Amino acid sequence: MTRYTELAERYGTPLYVYDLDRVAAARRDLLEALPEPFSLFSAVKANPHPEVLRVLAGGDGRVCRAEISSLGELAAALEAGFDAAGMLYTGPGKTGGELRDALAAGVRTFSVESASDLEHVGAAAVAQGARAQCLLRINSASASATTSIRMTGRPSQFGIDAETLGEVLPRLREVPGTSIAGAHFFPLSNASDEDSLVGEFRNTLAVAAELEREHGLPLRFVDIGGGFAAPYAVPGERPVYEKLRGRLEDALDATFPRWRLGEVHFACESGRYLVGDSGVLLTRVVNIKESRGRTFVILDAGINTFGGMSGLGRLLPVAVRPEGPEQAAQIADGTGLSASLVGPLCTPGDVLGRQVDLPDLRVGDVLTIPNAGAYGPTASLLMFLGRPAPAEVLVRGGEVVSATRIEHRRSEVAPLDGGAPRGGGPA
Ligand SMILES: *Cc1c(COP(=O)(O)O)cnc(C)c1O
Repeated sequence: MTRYTELAERYGTPLYVYDLDRVAAARRDLLEALPEPFSLFSAVKANPHPEVLRVLAGGDGRVCRAEISSLGELAAALEAGFDAAGMLYTGPGKTGGELRDALAAGVRTFSVESASDLEHVGAAAVAQGARAQCLLRINSASASATTSIRMTGRPSQFGIDAETLGEVLPRLREVPGTSIAGAHFFPLSNASDEDSLVGEFRNTLAVAAELEREHGLPLRFVDIGGGFAAPYAVPGERPVYEKLRGRLEDALDATFPRWRLGEVHFACESGRYLVGDSGVLLTRVVNIKESRGRTFVILDAGINTFGGMSGLGRLLPVAVRPEGPEQAAQIADGTGLSASLVGPLCTPGDVLGRQVDLPDLRVGDVLTIPNAGAYGPTASLLMFLGRPAPAEVLVRGGEVVSATRIEHRRSEVAPLDGGAPRGGGPA
């Protein structure tokens, strides 16, 4: 029995296991790949588990800051030890209440997605007697790298269209309660390789320099985004970006020579790279059936547990890590199973993968889906069909340090105005 199957026996399945030493290693590798004065934002949404966040917040002398997008993430980040003043609050739908509470907690840096978003931030800041440092999120007209998830260059709820900036900037500069500290770019996720990552950063830096030159966009702080890759739900190693630091420094020397004087501060951000390879998902085969010549392996983990995105039609290339050489050979030479991996939910959308190469399986076997540390339970349809959330076990140095499960429960909601009770008509 492997360590993983032992944990599956002990805590049941479906089960996530995260290795905190791997989170620390990813944090170290990414910080080392960035020029010394860079900040690194950790995107809390990739894995908001409090212990995982604690590792990301702490550690060596170099700064890791939290990128948050809700009050839930704010609370999780604060509890993990991230400094509120260092956080970046992002997202296209920041409400007045959220902004008020974030400002009250000490958050001062906001990424704004439009002129009206900036005005909302300003109004909340004025009400608190605070001043918000705003990064204008830019939807660049062009982009370079190849990626699976592109977020720029087309109509979007994210960012201010770069070509309109000249026109709107004078108005943006005058919004009370705010000052424009710089720009935020997040053009892509999961770049295919180091060259495309560097190409995208170069493109971003050129766009930033041009916006400054052409329109006088004030740039004291430039968040050039991310795109750091990690294998997701398939075997493989997280890349280590050996040359990135030098190549980024060269690009900065070419576009922002004053960066070495500290006159403009740069940041990158990452979710999946920091946490993806720390986790595996253990799931048990509940049943195996044939239908019209196809095999279906029915698991106790579906889109309620993992890859909620696949419920939206974005199928992952899920693969299973073989337990030992015999299974590896079965997968490699096709003498195992080729089957659809489906979950237990009553919807045909509950598919983790189609025609996945698998070892020979029996009901009761435990499968290991590797590289599942990012976008796990909280990115899944946790409540759908009312099954419990998967347990999440954390290990450090091979020892279990925590085992928990997210609970969902219904609670009473009071009317916002504190007025008429339920069912109560006019008096
Ligand atoms: C989701 C998100 C990230 C993290 O993306 P990864 O691909 O997981 O690195 C970073 N920044 C912003 C603004 C995001 O929305």
